[in-house]
Amino acid sequence: MNFENYIRDIQDFPKPGIGFKDITPLLLNAEATQACLDLLVSSLQGKKIDKVVGVESRGFFFGMLLAQKLGVGFIPVRKPKKLPFDTISASYELEYGSDILEMHIDAIKEEENILIHDDVLATGGTAKAVCELVEKLGGNIVQCNFLMELTFLNGREQIAEHEVFAALTY
Ligand code: IMP
Repeated sequence: MNFENYIRDIQDFPKPGIGFKDITPLLLNAEATQACLDLLVSSLQGKKIDKVVGVESRGFFFGMLLAQKLGVGFIPVRKPKKLPFDTISASYELEYGSDILEMHIDAIKEEENILIHDDVLATGGTAKAVCELVEKLGGNIVQCNFLMELTFLNGREQIAEHEVFAALTY
């Protein structure tokens, strides 16, 4: 099953000049979704994972599937003011300005082994902020994994101290 065929390129989204990788055709196909999930899980062989962190919002889809497959809990990282309980936050740079991500303060216990998942690794700013959140709570980052890595943006450099796996690279 070649699930790469289920990723759609959308030009000029969300603004002119940007090429957007759209995973909704992949989500529509159960067999392709399963093949992609299997590949992500195979990259974790022999690793002990206690919890999976998924990044709002497209990181929730496979993040939750990964957590269920591994038989562990799922932690949502969200944009500001979305989480109802006490939070910690980390900011990250955007092309223009900055943004903030939040996590519940009781989501991770010291020394828990954490898998971070998001759909796309682009410049790495988002992933770096998520790593910061996990480490603030004492979590041990086992791997950062992504459905896609846009290698020309060098996002790996932002999270160079961590193991990175991407199901597809462009
Ligand atoms: P970064 O912080 O530049 O690495 O951007 C990664 C974040 O932007 C992820 O949370 C992605 O969901 C989102 N993102 C960036 N490019 C794309 C894309 O082409 N398709 C879908 N999401 C993207």
